[in-house]
Amino acid sequence: MLPQEMVDLGSRRSTIRELFEYGKQRAAVVGPENVYDFSIGNPNVPAPECVTESIYRHLGRDPAALHGYTSAQGDYGVRKALAESLNRRFHQEFRAENLYLTVGAAASLSIALHAICEAGDEVVVFAPYFPEYSVFVSAAGAKLVEVPPRCEDFQIDFDVLAAHVTPKTRAVLINSPNNPSGVVYSKETAEKLAALLKERSAHYGHPIYLISDEPYREIVYGAETPFWTSYYSDTVVCYSYSKSLSLPGERIGYVLVPDGAADSKDLYHAVCGAGRYLGYVCAPSLFQYVIADCDGATSDLSIYRRNRDLLYHGLVDAGFSCVKPEGAFYLFPRALEADANGFCERAKKYDLLIVPGDAFGCPGHVRISYCVSTEQIERALPAFRKLAAEYR
Ligand code: PLP
Repeated sequence: MLPQEMVDLGSRRSTIRELFEYGKQRAAVVGPENVYDFSIGNPNVPAPECVTESIYRHLGRDPAALHGYTSAQGDYGVRKALAESLNRRFHQEFRAENLYLTVGAAASLSIALHAICEAGDEVVVFAPYFPEYSVFVSAAGAKLVEVPPRCEDFQIDFDVLAAHVTPKTRAVLINSPNNPSGVVYSKETAEKLAALLKERSAHYGHPIYLISDEPYREIVYGAETPFWTSYYSDTVVCYSYSKSLSLPGERIGYVLVPDGAADSKDLYHAVCGAGRYLGYVCAPSLFQYVIADCDGATSDLSIYRRNRDLLYHGLVDAGFSCVKPEGAFYLFPRALEADANGFCERAKKYDLLIVPGDAFGCPGHVRISYCVSTEQIERALPAFRKLAAEYR
Protein backbone atom coordinates (compact mmCIF):
# COMPACT_ATOMS: atom_id res chain seq x y z
CA MET A 1 0.00 0.00 0.00
CA LEU A 2 1.46 3.36 -0.99
CA PRO A 3 0.93 6.53 1.03
CA GLN A 4 -2.31 7.95 -0.36
CA GLU A 5 -1.30 11.54 0.39
CA MET A 6 1.67 11.24 -1.98
CA VAL A 7 -0.35 9.45 -4.65
CA ASP A 8 -2.94 12.24 -4.48
CA LEU A 9 -0.36 15.02 -4.58
CA GLY A 10 1.38 13.49 -7.57
CA SER A 11 -1.70 12.52 -9.54
CA ARG A 12 -3.53 15.83 -9.08
CA ARG A 13 -1.47 18.44 -10.87
CA SER A 14 -1.75 22.05 -9.63
CA THR A 15 -4.26 24.19 -11.54
CA ILE A 16 -1.36 26.20 -12.98
CA ARG A 17 0.53 23.13 -14.20
CA GLU A 18 -2.71 21.67 -15.57
CA LEU A 19 -3.30 24.79 -17.68
CA PHE A 20 0.34 24.93 -18.76
CA GLU A 21 0.08 21.32 -20.05
CA TYR A 22 -3.25 22.11 -21.72
CA GLY A 23 -1.57 25.07 -23.47
CA LYS A 24 1.09 22.78 -24.92
CA GLN A 25 -1.57 20.42 -26.26
CA ARG A 26 -3.57 23.32 -27.76
CA ALA A 27 -0.41 24.75 -29.35
CA ALA A 28 0.11 21.44 -31.16
CA VAL A 29 -3.41 21.76 -32.62
CA VAL A 30 -3.85 25.48 -33.41
CA GLY A 31 -0.21 26.62 -33.49
CA PRO A 32 1.72 28.23 -30.60
CA GLU A 33 1.09 31.75 -31.95
CA ASN A 34 -2.66 31.26 -31.44
CA VAL A 35 -2.49 30.19 -27.79
CA TYR A 36 -2.23 33.02 -25.26
CA ASP A 37 -0.69 31.21 -22.35
CA PHE A 38 -0.64 33.45 -19.27
CA SER A 39 -0.66 30.52 -16.86
CA ILE A 40 2.83 30.07 -15.44
CA GLY A 41 5.52 32.36 -14.01
CA ASN A 42 8.26 31.22 -16.36
CA PRO A 43 10.27 34.37 -17.23
CA ASN A 44 10.40 35.12 -20.93
CA VAL A 45 13.07 37.82 -20.51
CA PRO A 46 16.51 36.20 -20.94
CA ALA A 47 19.04 35.93 -18.12
CA PRO A 48 21.41 38.93 -18.10
CA GLU A 49 24.75 38.79 -19.93
CA CYS A 50 26.69 38.41 -16.66
CA VAL A 51 25.12 34.95 -16.22
CA THR A 52 26.32 33.71 -19.62
CA GLU A 53 29.78 35.22 -19.11
CA SER A 54 30.05 33.67 -15.67
CA ILE A 55 29.04 30.21 -16.97
CA TYR A 56 31.67 30.36 -19.74
CA ARG A 57 34.33 31.52 -17.34
CA HIS A 58 33.65 28.73 -14.87
CA LEU A 59 33.57 26.12 -17.64
CA GLY A 60 37.28 26.87 -18.11
CA ARG A 61 38.03 25.57 -14.61
CA ASP A 62 39.05 22.07 -13.55
CA PRO A 63 35.85 20.05 -14.23
CA ALA A 64 36.29 17.76 -11.23
CA ALA A 65 36.37 20.76 -8.90
CA LEU A 66 33.67 22.65 -10.75
CA HIS A 67 31.15 19.82 -10.78
CA GLY A 68 32.12 18.29 -7.44
CA TYR A 69 30.17 18.40 -4.19
CA THR A 70 30.41 21.60 -2.20
CA SER A 71 29.76 21.84 1.55
CA ALA A 72 26.21 20.72 2.35
CA GLN A 73 25.17 24.33 3.05
CA GLY A 74 26.93 25.64 -0.08
CA ASP A 75 30.47 26.66 -1.01
CA TYR A 76 31.99 28.89 1.68
CA GLY A 77 33.43 31.42 -0.82
CA VAL A 78 30.06 31.68 -2.57
CA ARG A 79 28.20 32.26 0.68
CA LYS A 80 30.78 34.87 1.69
CA ALA A 81 30.39 36.67 -1.64
CA LEU A 82 26.58 36.63 -1.31
CA ALA A 83 26.76 37.96 2.26
CA GLU A 84 29.05 40.79 1.09
CA SER A 85 26.70 41.61 -1.78
CA LEU A 86 23.70 41.76 0.59
CA ASN A 87 25.69 43.93 2.99
CA ARG A 88 26.56 46.39 0.23
CA ARG A 89 23.02 46.53 -1.10
CA PHE A 90 21.01 46.51 2.12
CA HIS A 91 23.48 47.85 4.73
CA GLN A 92 23.63 44.60 6.71
CA GLU A 93 26.41 42.67 8.45
CA PHE A 94 25.84 39.13 7.23
CA ARG A 95 28.50 36.45 7.05
CA ALA A 96 28.80 33.21 5.12
CA GLU A 97 27.53 31.49 8.27
CA ASN A 98 24.12 33.14 7.88
CA LEU A 99 23.42 31.54 4.50
CA TYR A 100 22.30 28.10 3.37
CA LEU A 101 22.15 27.58 -0.41
CA THR A 102 19.14 25.76 -1.83
CA VAL A 103 17.50 24.58 -5.02
CA GLY A 104 15.22 27.63 -5.30
CA ALA A 105 12.53 29.24 -3.18
CA ALA A 106 10.39 26.10 -2.95
CA ALA A 107 13.26 24.34 -1.17
CA SER A 108 14.08 27.46 0.87
CA LEU A 109 10.50 27.57 2.16
CA SER A 110 10.33 23.85 2.87
CA ILE A 111 13.60 24.03 4.78
CA ALA A 112 12.60 27.15 6.74
CA LEU A 113 9.22 25.65 7.70
CA HIS A 114 10.75 22.34 8.78
CA ALA A 115 13.41 24.21 10.75
CA ILE A 116 10.87 26.34 12.60
CA CYS A 117 7.66 24.32 13.00
CA GLU A 118 6.60 21.39 15.11
CA ALA A 119 3.38 19.38 14.84
CA GLY A 120 0.36 21.50 15.71
CA ASP A 121 2.05 24.87 15.15
CA GLU A 122 0.23 27.45 13.07
CA VAL A 123 1.64 29.35 10.11
CA VAL A 124 -0.26 32.48 9.11
CA VAL A 125 -0.45 33.35 5.41
CA PHE A 126 -2.21 36.19 3.61
CA ALA A 127 -4.64 35.41 0.81
CA PRO A 128 -4.05 35.54 -2.06
CA TYR A 129 -0.94 33.34 -1.73
CA PHE A 130 1.27 30.98 -3.78
CA PRO A 131 -0.72 27.69 -3.85
CA GLU A 132 2.23 25.49 -2.91
CA TYR A 133 2.35 27.10 0.55
CA SER A 134 -0.36 24.72 1.70
CA VAL A 135 1.73 21.73 0.59
CA PHE A 136 4.93 23.03 2.22
CA VAL A 137 3.23 23.98 5.50
CA SER A 138 1.42 20.68 5.92
CA ALA A 139 4.57 18.73 5.02
CA ALA A 140 6.25 20.49 7.96
CA GLY A 141 3.46 19.19 10.23
CA ALA A 142 1.99 22.66 10.75
CA LYS A 143 -1.44 24.12 10.10
CA LEU A 144 -1.94 26.85 7.53
CA VAL A 145 -4.02 29.73 8.88
CA GLU A 146 -5.34 31.93 6.12
CA VAL A 147 -5.92 35.66 6.59
CA PRO A 148 -8.73 36.55 4.16
CA PRO A 149 -7.87 39.00 1.37
CA ARG A 150 -8.51 42.73 1.51
CA CYS A 151 -9.62 42.92 -2.09
CA GLU A 152 -9.60 46.70 -2.51
CA ASP A 153 -5.79 46.87 -2.35
CA PHE A 154 -4.47 43.44 -1.20
CA GLN A 155 -2.51 45.14 1.58
CA ILE A 156 -2.45 43.83 5.17
CA ASP A 157 -5.50 44.56 7.30
CA PHE A 158 -3.84 44.64 10.72
CA ASP A 159 -7.03 44.18 12.72
CA VAL A 160 -7.87 41.05 10.75
CA LEU A 161 -4.29 39.82 11.05
CA ALA A 162 -4.29 40.39 14.82
CA ALA A 163 -7.34 38.14 15.14
CA HIS A 164 -5.49 35.31 13.37
CA VAL A 165 -2.31 35.38 15.49
CA THR A 166 -2.72 33.02 18.45
CA PRO A 167 -0.46 31.33 21.03
CA LYS A 168 -0.06 28.53 18.48
CA THR A 169 1.33 30.88 15.81
CA ARG A 170 4.91 29.87 15.09
CA ALA A 171 5.46 31.85 11.91
CA VAL A 172 3.91 34.43 9.64
CA LEU A 173 4.70 33.89 5.98
CA ILE A 174 4.79 36.92 3.68
CA ASN A 175 5.51 37.34 -0.01
CA SER A 176 6.25 40.85 -1.25
CA PRO A 177 6.34 41.66 -4.16
CA ASN A 178 3.42 39.31 -4.29
CA ASN A 179 2.44 36.43 -6.50
CA PRO A 180 -0.39 36.73 -7.60
CA SER A 181 -1.47 40.31 -6.71
CA GLY A 182 1.73 42.19 -7.62
CA VAL A 183 1.35 44.17 -4.40
CA VAL A 184 4.48 45.43 -2.61
CA TYR A 185 4.52 46.06 1.15
CA SER A 186 5.85 49.47 2.19
CA LYS A 187 8.29 50.35 4.97
CA GLU A 188 5.33 51.57 7.04
CA THR A 189 3.74 48.12 6.65
CA ALA A 190 7.03 46.51 7.70
CA GLU A 191 7.12 48.68 10.83
CA LYS A 192 3.55 47.85 11.75
CA LEU A 193 3.99 44.14 11.14
CA ALA A 194 7.20 44.11 13.19
CA ALA A 195 5.46 45.93 16.07
CA LEU A 196 2.56 43.45 16.11
CA LEU A 197 4.84 40.39 15.99
CA LYS A 198 7.16 41.76 18.70
CA GLU A 199 4.21 42.49 20.96
CA ARG A 200 2.67 39.03 20.42
CA SER A 201 6.02 37.21 20.76
CA ALA A 202 6.58 38.92 24.12
CA HIS A 203 3.01 38.22 25.20
CA TYR A 204 3.10 34.52 24.32
CA GLY A 205 6.68 34.05 25.54
CA HIS A 206 8.05 32.55 22.33
CA PRO A 207 9.31 34.07 19.10
CA ILE A 208 6.96 34.28 16.16
CA TYR A 209 9.22 34.06 13.13
CA LEU A 210 8.58 36.01 9.98
CA ILE A 211 9.32 33.91 6.90
CA SER A 212 9.85 36.27 4.00
CA ASP A 213 9.47 34.59 0.62
CA GLU A 214 11.25 36.96 -1.76
CA PRO A 215 11.78 35.55 -5.25
CA TYR A 216 10.51 38.84 -6.73
CA ARG A 217 12.54 41.14 -4.45
CA GLU A 218 14.18 43.08 -7.29
CA ILE A 219 11.17 43.08 -9.63
CA VAL A 220 9.56 46.38 -8.65
CA TYR A 221 8.39 49.35 -10.68
CA GLY A 222 9.48 52.26 -8.53
CA ALA A 223 8.23 51.04 -5.13
CA GLU A 224 10.80 50.76 -2.34
CA THR A 225 10.94 47.28 -0.83
CA PRO A 226 11.93 46.98 2.83
CA PHE A 227 14.71 44.54 3.70
CA TRP A 228 12.82 42.66 6.38
CA THR A 229 15.62 41.74 8.78
CA SER A 230 16.15 45.49 9.36
CA TYR A 231 12.61 45.75 10.70
CA TYR A 232 12.15 42.45 12.46
CA SER A 233 15.17 40.47 13.59
CA ASP A 234 13.26 37.16 13.87
CA THR A 235 13.03 37.03 10.08
CA VAL A 236 14.14 34.11 7.93
CA VAL A 237 14.61 35.16 4.32
CA CYS A 238 13.82 32.66 1.56
CA TYR A 239 15.28 33.82 -1.73
CA SER A 240 15.57 32.44 -5.23
CA TYR A 241 17.25 33.53 -8.47
CA SER A 242 14.44 31.97 -10.53
CA LYS A 243 12.79 35.28 -11.33
CA SER A 244 15.38 38.05 -10.80
CA LEU A 245 17.97 36.32 -13.02
CA SER A 246 15.45 34.31 -15.12
CA LEU A 247 16.95 31.01 -13.95
CA PRO A 248 13.92 28.97 -12.79
CA GLY A 249 15.14 25.74 -14.36
CA GLU A 250 18.57 25.95 -12.75
CA ARG A 251 17.11 25.66 -9.22
CA ILE A 252 19.19 27.99 -7.10
CA GLY A 253 18.42 30.18 -4.08
CA TYR A 254 19.13 30.46 -0.36
CA VAL A 255 17.82 30.64 3.19
CA LEU A 256 19.19 33.51 5.27
CA VAL A 257 19.20 33.32 9.09
CA PRO A 258 20.35 36.63 10.61
CA ASP A 259 22.47 36.68 13.79
CA GLY A 260 19.79 38.81 15.45
CA ALA A 261 17.10 36.11 15.15
CA ALA A 262 15.99 34.37 18.34
CA ASP A 263 18.12 31.25 18.93
CA SER A 264 19.96 32.12 15.73
CA LYS A 265 22.75 29.53 16.12
CA ASP A 266 20.28 26.72 16.75
CA LEU A 267 17.99 28.07 14.06
CA TYR A 268 20.82 27.93 11.52
CA HIS A 269 21.63 24.38 12.69
CA ALA A 270 17.94 23.53 12.31
CA VAL A 271 18.06 24.92 8.75
CA CYS A 272 21.07 22.70 8.02
CA GLY A 273 19.23 19.80 9.69
CA ALA A 274 16.07 20.40 7.69
CA GLY A 275 18.14 20.56 4.50
CA ARG A 276 19.65 17.20 5.42
CA TYR A 277 16.29 15.73 6.45
CA LEU A 278 14.70 16.77 3.15
CA GLY A 279 17.71 15.81 1.04
CA TYR A 280 18.31 19.43 -0.03
CA VAL A 281 22.07 19.48 0.45
CA CYS A 282 24.74 20.89 -1.81
CA ALA A 283 22.84 23.06 -4.32
CA PRO A 284 24.01 22.78 -7.97
CA SER A 285 27.66 23.80 -7.87
CA LEU A 286 28.01 25.59 -11.22
CA PHE A 287 25.08 27.85 -10.39
CA GLN A 288 26.39 28.51 -6.91
CA TYR A 289 29.45 30.07 -8.57
CA VAL A 290 27.28 31.94 -11.07
CA ILE A 291 25.12 33.61 -8.41
CA ALA A 292 28.22 34.66 -6.50
CA ASP A 293 29.23 36.56 -9.65
CA CYS A 294 25.76 37.92 -10.44
CA ASP A 295 23.93 38.58 -7.16
CA GLY A 296 22.15 41.93 -7.43
CA ALA A 297 22.05 41.89 -11.24
CA THR A 298 18.66 41.40 -12.91
CA SER A 299 17.16 40.51 -16.25
CA ASP A 300 15.84 43.49 -18.22
CA LEU A 301 12.99 44.61 -15.94
CA SER A 302 11.89 47.34 -18.35
CA ILE A 303 10.22 44.60 -20.42
CA TYR A 304 8.07 43.56 -17.47
CA ARG A 305 7.13 47.18 -16.81
CA ARG A 306 6.14 47.61 -20.47
CA ASN A 307 4.10 44.39 -20.32
CA ARG A 308 2.42 45.43 -17.09
CA ASP A 309 1.40 48.83 -18.50
CA LEU A 310 0.16 47.39 -21.79
CA LEU A 311 -1.88 44.63 -20.17
CA TYR A 312 -3.16 46.68 -17.23
CA HIS A 313 -4.45 49.53 -19.42
CA GLY A 314 -5.75 47.09 -22.06
CA LEU A 315 -7.76 45.17 -19.47
CA VAL A 316 -9.09 48.25 -17.66
CA ASP A 317 -10.18 49.70 -21.04
CA ALA A 318 -11.93 46.39 -21.78
CA GLY A 319 -13.91 46.69 -18.54
CA PHE A 320 -11.84 44.71 -16.01
CA SER A 321 -11.13 46.07 -12.55
CA CYS A 322 -7.69 45.44 -11.15
CA VAL A 323 -5.28 46.67 -8.46
CA LYS A 324 -2.28 48.06 -10.39
CA PRO A 325 0.71 45.87 -9.53
CA GLU A 326 3.85 47.54 -8.21
CA GLY A 327 6.03 44.47 -8.54
CA ALA A 328 6.43 40.83 -9.64
CA PHE A 329 4.93 39.98 -13.05
CA TYR A 330 1.29 39.11 -12.42
CA LEU A 331 -2.03 40.90 -12.75
CA PHE A 332 -4.89 39.80 -10.50
CA PRO A 333 -8.13 41.35 -11.82
CA ARG A 334 -11.64 40.47 -10.76
CA ALA A 335 -13.25 37.82 -12.93
CA LEU A 336 -16.24 39.14 -14.87
CA GLU A 337 -18.51 36.61 -13.19
CA ALA A 338 -18.65 35.42 -9.59
CA ASP A 339 -17.28 31.99 -10.48
CA ALA A 340 -13.66 32.50 -11.53
CA ASN A 341 -13.39 28.83 -12.58
CA GLY A 342 -16.29 29.25 -14.99
CA PHE A 343 -14.76 32.49 -16.24
CA CYS A 344 -11.38 30.84 -16.93
CA GLU A 345 -13.14 27.98 -18.73
CA ARG A 346 -14.93 30.53 -20.91
CA ALA A 347 -11.60 32.30 -21.58
CA LYS A 348 -10.30 29.03 -23.05
CA LYS A 349 -12.76 29.51 -25.91
CA TYR A 350 -10.45 32.34 -27.04
CA ASP A 351 -7.34 30.32 -26.18
CA LEU A 352 -6.69 32.66 -23.27
CA LEU A 353 -5.11 30.62 -20.48
CA ILE A 354 -5.54 32.35 -17.13
CA VAL A 355 -5.67 30.90 -13.62
CA PRO A 356 -8.69 31.07 -11.27
CA GLY A 357 -7.98 32.93 -8.03
CA ASP A 358 -9.45 30.03 -6.03
CA ALA A 359 -6.06 28.33 -6.41
CA PHE A 360 -4.58 31.29 -4.47
CA GLY A 361 -7.23 31.37 -1.75
CA CYS A 362 -8.98 34.30 -3.42
CA PRO A 363 -12.09 33.33 -5.39
CA GLY A 364 -13.64 35.78 -7.82
CA HIS A 365 -10.26 36.83 -9.27
CA VAL A 366 -7.95 35.50 -11.95
CA ARG A 367 -4.18 35.51 -12.25
CA ILE A 368 -2.61 36.63 -15.49
CA SER A 369 1.12 36.06 -15.70
CA TYR A 370 2.75 38.69 -17.93
CA CYS A 371 6.33 37.40 -18.03
CA VAL A 372 5.59 36.60 -21.67
CA SER A 373 6.56 38.34 -24.89
CA THR A 374 5.09 41.83 -25.36
CA GLU A 375 3.91 40.61 -28.73
CA GLN A 376 1.81 37.88 -27.07
CA ILE A 377 0.06 40.55 -24.99
CA GLU A 378 -0.57 42.70 -28.08
CA ARG A 379 -2.08 39.73 -29.90
CA ALA A 380 -4.11 38.62 -26.87
CA LEU A 381 -5.79 41.96 -26.11
CA PRO A 382 -8.49 41.58 -28.82
CA ALA A 383 -9.29 38.15 -27.33
CA PHE A 384 -9.64 39.70 -23.85
CA ARG A 385 -11.95 42.34 -25.37
CA LYS A 386 -14.10 39.65 -27.00
CA LEU A 387 -14.28 37.77 -23.71
CA ALA A 388 -15.30 40.93 -21.84
CA ALA A 389 -17.95 41.71 -24.49
CA GLU A 390 -19.73 38.46 -23.58
CA TYR A 391 -20.52 39.97 -20.18
CA ARG A 392 -22.04 43.27 -21.38
N1 PLP B 1 7.29 31.53 -3.90
C1 PLP B 1 6.59 32.24 -4.80
C2 PLP B 1 5.74 33.36 -4.32
C3 PLP B 1 6.62 31.91 -6.16
O1 PLP B 1 5.91 32.64 -7.01
C4 PLP B 1 7.43 30.82 -6.57
C5 PLP B 1 7.47 30.42 -7.98
O2 PLP B 1 6.75 30.86 -8.83
C6 PLP B 1 8.15 30.13 -5.60
C7 PLP B 1 8.06 30.50 -4.28
C8 PLP B 1 9.03 28.96 -5.99
O3 PLP B 1 10.18 29.47 -6.60
P1 PLP B 1 11.35 28.53 -7.14
O4 PLP B 1 11.04 28.24 -8.55
O5 PLP B 1 12.59 29.34 -6.99
O6 PLP B 1 11.36 27.31 -6.31
